[in-house]
Amino acid sequence: MNTKAGDPLIVDSLGMAPKPVAMEGARGAVIRELITDRDGAPTFAMRLFELAPEGHTPKHSHPHEHEIYILAGAGQLGGAAGGRPLRQGDAVFVPGGVEHQFANTGSGPLRFLCLIPIEKKSAA
Ligand SMILES: [Zn+2]
Repeated sequence: MNTKAGDPLIVDSLGMAPKPVAMEGARGAVIRELITDRDGAPTFAMRLFELAPEGHTPKHSHPHEHEIYILAGAGQLGGAAGGRPLRQGDAVFVPGGVEHQFANTGSGPLRFLCLIPIEKKSAA
C-alpha cells in the first residue's frame, strides 16, 4: 500500500513490471496485478493481462466468476461451446464453473482487464 489509510490509490499500470502467467497451459501471457488485497482492497482484485500474438491462457474453470474488459487487440474466447471472437471494447462475463480460455488471434498484443473476488485469485 502506498497511500495512507482511506486515501484512494492510483496505480501506474504501465510502469508496473509484468509477471508471466504461471499456470500450466499458458503461453505468451503476462499479468500485472493492479489492485489486490495487498493494497487494502477487501472484495475485488483488478488484473491486467497481456497476451502476445498466438498467446493464450490455460483452458480452465473455477467456482468464481470473471468480469473482463478487452482494452486492445483481437482474440477468441474458447470454451465448451467453441470459440467466439473478441475485440477491443467487448466486456465478458464468465460465470463460475464455466470452462474458458482467452487466446490472441491478432497481430498485436491482446490486453484485457480481469476482475475477480479477492479471496479466490486465479489466472484469467
Ligand atoms: Zn479463469
